[in-house]
Amino acid sequence: MPELPEVETVARGLRAPLVGKRIKAMWHDWERALHSPGAAEFAARISGQKIRAVNRRGKYILIALDAGDTLLIHLKMSGRLYVAPAAEEHEADRWVHVRFDLDSGEQLRFSDLRKFGRVYLSNDVAALLAHLGPEPLSADFTLARFQSGMRGRSRAIKSLLLQQEFVAGIGNIYADEALFRAGINPAARANGLSEEDCALLHRAIQDALRAGIAHEGASIGWYRKPDGKRGNSQNYFYVYGREGLPCRHCGSAINKIRLAQRGTHFCPQCQPAQAAD
Ligand SMILES: [Zn+2]
Repeated sequence: MPELPEVETVARGLRAPLVGKRIKAMWHDWERALHSPGAAEFAARISGQKIRAVNRRGKYILIALDAGDTLLIHLKMSGRLYVAPAAEEHEADRWVHVRFDLDSGEQLRFSDLRKFGRVYLSNDVAALLAHLGPEPLSADFTLARFQSGMRGRSRAIKSLLLQQEFVAGIGNIYADEALFRAGINPAARANGLSEEDCALLHRAIQDALRAGIAHEGASIGWYRKPDGKRGNSQNYFYVYGREGLPCRHCGSAINKIRLAQRGTHFCPQCQPAQAAD
């Protein structure tokens, strides 16, 4: 599933082709892709609105419109967004279930093979996204807030990092990468981390996400940039998808275990298990 670096790359890639253009009409053939409002209101309300900005919050793409509405898109497992002239065909077109016609003669297409992706139209984004924790690359994500969020949480730190209410935008890939960078075992209890470990992890989360953005996301699955090209983040991973391969730091074989119902990658040498208490 696309995580913060992938969604950020998509938002950046859509900005130039979308900002300043007006949405003329909406088309869809998969009702459930429209989270809210319903299809009739969605189409009526969005038609005629001009695109002011394209941003991101957590794993949501936010397309701000001039009548005070925001078009929100969650890519989920297999969503792809791209802008193309109406007559131009694209390899991912067969999975397009929602499309927006622009006044430039182009279309914003939402292709989604697995059909888990969702679009929303809202005039109250803050309420819609109120459940999200701090944005990890913003000033809101302070070490103090991060540490206080861990108090009383006896679950595995990996599992806590995946909670969007705790910190927004991290998924399975960048959780594993951040924990490796901090030298913390993914099964370590969140409330058992030392102050030093918390500080290392706080920094490592930001470093792992920034590296992901710099390499324009990881195209290990379905994710592609809006221009159709692959991201390169996967070529720089320390642990994710590297089970059995030598650790880039110590040469030990990277392990893969099941944790929080997810495949979890770590180096047993660089990320030793917590001492039992
Ligand atoms: Zn190692």
